[in-house]
Amino acid sequence: MALVQIENVSKIYQTGDVEVAALSDINLSIEKSSFVSFVGPSGSGKTTMLNMIGCLDMPTTGKILVDGKQVDTLNRQKKAAFRGDVIGFIFQSFNLFPVLTAYENIEYPLVMIKNKPARQRKEIILNVLDSVGMLSQKDKFPDQLSGGQKQRVAVARALVTQPKLVMADEPTANLDKESSINVIRLMRDMKDKFGTTFIFSTHDPRIMEEAEITHTLVDGKLA
Ligand code: ADP
Ligand code: MG
Repeated sequence: MALVQIENVSKIYQTGDVEVAALSDINLSIEKSSFVSFVGPSGSGKTTMLNMIGCLDMPTTGKILVDGKQVDTLNRQKKAAFRGDVIGFIFQSFNLFPVLTAYENIEYPLVMIKNKPARQRKEIILNVLDSVGMLSQKDKFPDQLSGGQKQRVAVARALVTQPKLVMADEPTANLDKESSINVIRLMRDMKDKFGTTFIFSTHDPRIMEEAEITHTLVDGKLA
């Protein structure tokens, strides 16, 4: 069974009298442990697509299954619980807490989502810090880290709850070329190591080459 199954999904945004078809009749499936990118110019529907798969928004029509569960019909509360169980997120602007160290940023979802006791947390966090190559930086605050290092911490934070799926909307948009490629390769290594499926978007041609499967969006349609 595919990890993500998208059937006849359309998303129409309505602003006043104007309707924008951000996605039009998308059919797609994404397998477990795959490394998938959505590419296309600005406005082509990448963010809308990732928000649908990440259970952050609802399609106007169509059906979305993630990990065997139909998610488009879930209410807000159930959707939030499902996200906490199954999905990790990496953001374009890192979204680390500035007052927390790298270690504490990674610890946060274990406390807030997983309710793990302190004893159990430490081993998990040190392990994931080591996996992303940030163990020696664990006590640094975000503004003591480079952009690439911050995104490594964010990758660790996304993985620490052991999600089946990690979503990353333009995760390299605020990084220079070298850091961008390094972060994407780190994500791919984490896919290999933990079997996590990664879905990311980009409009950067240098990053696209790193994906195993690329879906191109043009005006809300798959090309
Ligand atoms: P991308 O991420 O590829 O730049 P988006 O998914 O953000 O594309 O946007 C796709 C289309 O949907 C664009 O035309 C955009 O203007 C429109 N759109 C996105 N979000 C909204 C919204 N909340 N309200 C109205 N229109 C939106
Ligand atoms: Mg976008």
